[in-house]
Amino acid sequence: MDRPLRVAIIGSGPAGFYAAGALVAQEDPPVSVDMFDRLPAPYGLVRYGVAPDHENIRNVLRIYRKTLSHERVRFFGNVEYGRDLKYQDLLELYDYTVFSTGAPTDRSLGVPGEDLRGSLSATEFVAWYNGHPDFVDLDVSLDTEAVVVVGVGNVAIDVARILARSVDELKTTDIADYALEKLAGSRVRDIYVLGRRGPAQAKFTNPEIREFGKLQEADAVVRMDELVLDPLSEASLEEDRVARKNLEILKELAATGLTGKPKRVHFRFLLSPVEILGDDSGMTEVRIERNELRASESGYLNSYGTGEFETLKAGMILRSVGYRGLPLPELPYDKRSGIVPNRQGRVIDTDSGQPIARIYVAGWAKRGPTGVIGTNKADAVETVACLLEDAREAGRGFAERPDLEETDRLLYGRGAHCVSYDDWCRIEALEEERGAKEGRPRVKFVRAEEMLAACTP
Ligand code: NAP
Repeated sequence: MDRPLRVAIIGSGPAGFYAAGALVAQEDPPVSVDMFDRLPAPYGLVRYGVAPDHENIRNVLRIYRKTLSHERVRFFGNVEYGRDLKYQDLLELYDYTVFSTGAPTDRSLGVPGEDLRGSLSATEFVAWYNGHPDFVDLDVSLDTEAVVVVGVGNVAIDVARILARSVDELKTTDIADYALEKLAGSRVRDIYVLGRRGPAQAKFTNPEIREFGKLQEADAVVRMDELVLDPLSEASLEEDRVARKNLEILKELAATGLTGKPKRVHFRFLLSPVEILGDDSGMTEVRIERNELRASESGYLNSYGTGEFETLKAGMILRSVGYRGLPLPELPYDKRSGIVPNRQGRVIDTDSGQPIARIYVAGWAKRGPTGVIGTNKADAVETVACLLEDAREAGRGFAERPDLEETDRLLYGRGAHCVSYDDWCRIEALEEERGAKEGRPRVKFVRAEEMLAACTP
């Protein structure tokens, strides 16, 4: 073949970047990559999911920037798959397409009162404080003394920590200005983080829980009696170093107790919300039920209600029970797991059980919302390996493709206002310039229109 392979990547989060990096690192055949993102900005959850006070996690941006500046990579921001760019376009313009669109929504609790004002998903709250254009106007009220966070994964930990932080701790981060302002006026004093199972089953990781012993304005409150394990949980610790260490840290936090700081983060276990109560103006209480653990046939420890209830007064509840993928136009979708059905990244037609030619998936859309940012590297590399293997098998039998400029022409013709690599560099430089004046890594543009306006030199 006398031209590079042409690959489209839909979604420029971590999985998209690791896929692009693996593709352009490959010389025989060389690959040219077009990356598309629905938002004007690239980087997905690295920009809009990573907590603002964890800037070091954003060090991966150095690698992503290198990929973005590669001579065979082009970026098309503000282009929505299914609207500006259709499945048929991808088939015509590209040899292969990798979908890395993540898991953009969240799971619900399925309890009464979940739609009351003050009941939000942690994923929305995270996107709000990170200045995600779709969530700038989210109805967040911190005019309450208590917040309940449901779930004990790292997202729950992030939202609890942001609510517990002082303005001094946050003002040097890239948190959205409107969020900082609202947090500065917050009346929240008690944050209850609820695990439906026990401390041995918590999904958070060691450094994340350890941070609660070092917050400027908040004490961690852990009840020793809720750290007592049943024999099965105790046995499970033998093979789980992270859970063992989590328990050790929780015991240290329990032993430290209150030191008189103005806020408190309560970690509570074996509790599930069963109803959110309130009125037209919003929620006021959460009714919770104590659980016990019982092993299923496979040995998995499930939680079951015991019929013992208590009530927590709270004006806000953040459900942090996992992200969830959405169906993509023209692609198969597994409703149960919220992923695109695939084998090692090759998208599978659900009727025939066979791979759909030239269509791949990577990241959370492929395996579900698990793992840290780095997990997406191995995941994307696996997908790319399948794609390249298929390309080698196809040999020289590639169809003629229109020239690269056809993508620009098509998008222009549809009225899309694309953000190019040069545009993005300008936006990023302006954000960093604004940040430098305030001793912050960047001050983000939070509305899509602001970003588009900043593209014009
Ligand atoms: P997660 O780690 O899967 O945690 C979800 C939590 O929700 C679990 O505690 C789960 O409990 C609970 N849950 C699920 N359904 C529930 C229900 N109906 N009622 C009550 N609790 C329920 O998910 P995540 O926190 O959204 O994080 C997603 C991924 O991003 C994870 O891999 C995480 O490590 C990663 N992440 C990493 C960082 C970091 O490195 N700092 C930060 C943020 C996110 P069960 O165990 O009982 O199901």
